[in-house]
Amino acid sequence: MTALLEVEGLCVEYRNPDGSVTRPVEGVALRIQPGEIAAILGESGCGKSTTALALMRLIAPPGRIAAGRIRLRGQDLLTLDEAAMRRVRGAGISMVFQNPLTYLNPVLPIGAQIAEVLRGPGHRLPKRAAMAAARQALDDVRIADPERVMRAYPHELSGGMNQRALIAIAIVGRPALVVLDEPTTALDVTVQREITMLLRDLRDRLGMSMLFITHDFGLAADIADRVHVMYAGRVVEQAEVRAMFRAPAHPYSRALIDSVLSVRSTRARLAAIPGSVPDLRRPIPGCAFAPRCGAVLPRCGTEAPPAIPIGVAGGSARCWLHA
Ligand code: ADP
Repeated sequence: MTALLEVEGLCVEYRNPDGSVTRPVEGVALRIQPGEIAAILGESGCGKSTTALALMRLIAPPGRIAAGRIRLRGQDLLTLDEAAMRRVRGAGISMVFQNPLTYLNPVLPIGAQIAEVLRGPGHRLPKRAAMAAARQALDDVRIADPERVMRAYPHELSGGMNQRALIAIAIVGRPALVVLDEPTTALDVTVQREITMLLRDLRDRLGMSMLFITHDFGLAADIADRVHVMYAGRVVEQAEVRAMFRAPAHPYSRALIDSVLSVRSTRARLAAIPGSVPDLRRPIPGCAFAPRCGAVLPRCGTEAPPAIPIGVAGGSARCWLHA
């Protein structure tokens, strides 16, 4: 099957004031199939958001995409000019962020904000048609009283309603792929569950693919078909979600899963993985997880492991334990 999104060797770099270079994303590969929900999972600072912004070509200078290929339906996004890229952002890939109030316009009614997408690049719909589609999008995200919400301002709505409105903005142009960066992290658990169910439901009804970014394995397990675990800028394991849950191949994936299981069984606070993510301003010899790994081998400190095939469902892990 032809992948909807194919990312190969993606590298993002920032030049620091002292002239050194940080690479928050290093050789990332992703494949998302039509109708698939993929997740990127990892602790804060692992490069998840930077990867998402790179897919939209929204890395702000002095950051830049230093290498790699991003293909959406076979089209190489890194060769497009800015006007063509704006059309992709209008109709090809859209994005949902964590704090809706940061992204919603406080002085524009919700309906007009949704319709705006269809007035812009990639659509250019007349106002009346755009407003009708906005109303439909509020139905699509299961908002009970769409007429009122069309006219409402963000401050008049709850956090969960605003997040639904932001999702309506993301889907109204029927993009092929919706990227959601920690879309439920600011919400309480009940609303979080409603939103993840809504996303699965949208995928089933509208057939769109999604890339769901989270630090919470439990959430990834609830929503995703396939999980990409990121650590220090690299995808260290990718696998079908149940396969990873049953038998995580990378010690970092195992640690993320164990931290969720310990919370669910003891209701304790999240059992943090000992140690912290490395400083990416310095080059890391070998495997970046080695200093925190319980199964470390002598070569891990000096040789970076390649992506090694794991299991039957096309999974892989960057870990010498599987060499
Ligand atoms: P995550 O989404 O996993 O929390 P991010 O992608 O936000 O991780 O960040 C990954 C790394 O990239 C961090 O170490 C951060 O310091 C670095 N980074 C992100 N944006 C910039 C920037 N504008 N300039 C320099 N470094 C950045």
